[in-house]
Amino acid sequence: MNSALRPSRNGKAEIHVSFEFFPPKTEEMETSLWESIARLAPLDPSFVSVTYGAGGTTRERTHATLSRIVKETQLKPAAHLTCVGASRDEIDDVVRAYAQAGVRHIVALRGDPPEGPGSMFRAHPGGYETSTALVAGIRRLGDFEVTVSAYPEKHPESGTLDQDIDVLAAKVDAGATRAITQFFFENETYLKYLNRVRQRGINIPILPGIVPVQNFKQTASFARKTGASVPQWLADRFEGLENDPATRRLIAAAVAAEQVLDLVDEGIEDFHFYTMNKADLVYAICHLLGLRAKTAPEPKTIAA
Ligand code: FAD
Repeated sequence: MNSALRPSRNGKAEIHVSFEFFPPKTEEMETSLWESIARLAPLDPSFVSVTYGAGGTTRERTHATLSRIVKETQLKPAAHLTCVGASRDEIDDVVRAYAQAGVRHIVALRGDPPEGPGSMFRAHPGGYETSTALVAGIRRLGDFEVTVSAYPEKHPESGTLDQDIDVLAAKVDAGATRAITQFFFENETYLKYLNRVRQRGINIPILPGIVPVQNFKQTASFARKTGASVPQWLADRFEGLENDPATRRLIAAAVAAEQVLDLVDEGIEDFHFYTMNKADLVYAICHLLGLRAKTAPEPKTIAA
């Protein structure tokens, strides 16, 4: 494509980004998280989300992280929430507590059983049975923005991609207003999926979930569990770098940059980054996307 026609080069694309973090377990991880938030906040993301540990194991830490984001920054927070291991009443209380803390955006998920992805999901007695029921439950509790997941390569438990898209449609009917995809490496997979979703009459934004490959082995292993495919060309790019983290990071930045810039050329302008609580790669990729630190308003003081 002629450079002048490429939105990734001609500066005409209006890029929006959002960032996902996980709640820290240790003091050291807490410091790293807040350094990352401080670095990424000036890029003025549309929202930042904080994950909810499998089985609800991070309920308090997720809440504490989000409360601190509300108190100490100008960022727009979103809380992940799953149906796992809690009754409807307990989950409703979590949602109300978020509202009280100033969080009005929930990323609503079914979640995986405590044994991990791939094991059979059983709803908690008296709990929300599906992500669709959770979305409807949250919407009943008040004026919340609700984001849900989407699976360009289908969720491993879905029989077909069409069934998976039916689930997405049900979540939208229940009140979801945005979806974030599972990460993927072949842009064609996402673009074809987006096409099918639109043909199905689903018109909410479907943000591509981008994972910078900080550690290829780990990412490939996680991908196997979640049904995301890892192309051979990606494995080839990291081949032989097991003991060379510095080069791995450069390759990771190059791979993610290539992915997002290609998507921009395809007309995609909203991106969700799985940051893994590390800012450097994501900051560099956002810079390539043309994002610059906004001078005002600065985030309030963020102490490490
Ligand atoms: P669902 O919407 O539940 O869909 C999964 C599959 O379940 C469907 O494809 C279908 O086969 C079946 N299904 C669901 N509802 C119905 C229905 N009404 N009728 C028929 N079949 C149905 N996990 C965490 O524990 N914490 C997190 O913070 C977290 N954040 C995530 C963020 C994103 C963007 C993504 C993509 C995933 C996240 N996950 C998280 C993982 C997620 O919990 C698992 O993938 C889980 O297995 C599925 O939950 P879901 O809400 O993503 O999918």
